[in-house]
Amino acid sequence: MSPRAGRPAPAVSFEDRMATVEFRVADEPHITVDGDTCRGCTTRACVTACPANLFVPMADGGILFNYEQCFECGTCYLICNTAGAITWRYPEGGHGVVFRRS
Ligand code: SF4
Ligand code: SF4
Repeated sequence: MSPRAGRPAPAVSFEDRMATVEFRVADEPHITVDGDTCRGCTTRACVTACPANLFVPMADGGILFNYEQCFECGTCYLICNTAGAITWRYPEGGHGVVFRRS
């Protein structure tokens, strides 16, 4: 049995956890968002669903998106209900998010 079994996990703040995450940013984005397609979107589900807060609604109805601090969770691709709004793939080898244990 693990020596930690039965004990509550130590409290770690989001900021402390994020301090252990590294992003190896590729030159080419692994996710692209078609802002023109997004202008017709009524849910803007990506804005609230992305755990990294990478989708920002614009006043003109479009979406501002930045791929550089993406967790590669795939939530945005799954939750978007508009065909063609998001293209998604994993970053090329050696790039992307690196989760480290603190
Ligand atoms: S990415 Fe999808 S969910 Fe997000 S604003 Fe565009 S169409 Fe809507
Ligand atoms: S894959 Fe996850 S972290 Fe990356 S943009 Fe989509 S929802 Fe945000």
